Amino acid sequence: MEDKNPGFAPQHPPNSPDYPPNYGDNKPNNQNNQSEKPQNSTADAATISIVGLVLAFLLPPIGLILSIIALKRSQGANEAKGIATAGVVIGGIFSLFFLGSVIAFAEIVTKGSSWLDELNTSLSTTTTTTKDTSTLAGVQAMVADKDYFSWEFPRLNCAMTDEEYAADRTKWLNNWLDCLNNSWGTTANQDLAKIGPPALVVVATSQDIVNSQCSRNNNTDASADVTGSFCRADDTIFMYSSIMDKRSPQENLFTLFHEYAHHLQLLQGVNIDSNIFIGFLYSDYPNQRISEDEALELSKTRSELNAECAALAMFKLSGQVDTAGGEAVVRNFAKPISDHPDSARYGSASVRQRISDSVMNSSRLTMQTCNTWKWSDSELRV
Ligand SMILES: [Zn+2]
Repeated sequence: MEDKNPGFAPQHPPNSPDYPPNYGDNKPNNQNNQSEKPQNSTADAATISIVGLVLAFLLPPIGLILSIIALKRSQGANEAKGIATAGVVIGGIFSLFFLGSVIAFAEIVTKGSSWLDELNTSLSTTTTTTKDTSTLAGVQAMVADKDYFSWEFPRLNCAMTDEEYAADRTKWLNNWLDCLNNSWGTTANQDLAKIGPPALVVVATSQDIVNSQCSRNNNTDASADVTGSFCRADDTIFMYSSIMDKRSPQENLFTLFHEYAHHLQLLQGVNIDSNIFIGFLYSDYPNQRISEDEALELSKTRSELNAECAALAMFKLSGQVDTAGGEAVVRNFAKPISDHPDSARYGSASVRQRISDSVMNSSRLTMQTCNTWKWSDSELRV
């Protein structure tokens, strides 16, 4: 104190008997302390060992440390030594439990915070996308972010032979449909197992189509492809008998896969949301770089190219690629679809080649490979 505050020094003359106040008593005390050390140490050890033992239960690490100190000081004093030893053992065991709990707690906190980080990231991503709904690109990005595009294509281990096709092609197609429902229901997204009912194959006569919900709704909710069509209102796949007659089993299987892709789109409302988002966009922000009709037409193109891409991916995983009919399907994929009134929706040769390359060269196929909502308008129109 005095060294740090020299101002006090003049108040205590060096010769004053009280200055420095403790010197006189300290010397004898120090000597006493030295002579009393063994006794004091033993008494301390007894006290510390008892406190250490109690704390071994309540605050194990501190109890352990105190018990170790007590053990060191308790030379010769058996009682203190015994208690200290007990404190060390109990404190040690309890400390291990204590340490384990701390680690477990830290892990929970860490995992919890990383989960929170993920939640925050996904929320901020959503917010960023939502902010962008004044542009067509922002609306497309919202569709492109759907879970649908993270689904992994399942392997379709359900080989059905050409002979079975020849015997009963309706049964053959229905078997493939069961295979699709089972494979997608267990391997893709848990939502798939919950959402039903599965699409139905109807090898259609013209009367079947007339009776469908889509026909009654003036066909506004149907996606008509060359050999088949998908009716969203009925969640129904139609296969056209007269066109199937002219095609190989594998070509017809490819069409089934294409229509099934529309069913998968329906499970997540991909096309419905795309159309709704575009509708809201043009009602709130009419001044876009292309007209609403053009935007809707491009959305249909994205939907058909996604279905074509998904169909090729399913075909690759169906075990049919190596059949004679299967090789032709893969080889002919890059040719543009010419016999369809809306053939532009199915892509040019270069667009189809790009899809074929990415599907056939991918070792792991997810719907992201077929995420045509990430493509620019010009990429769709090449
Ligand atoms: Zn289609």
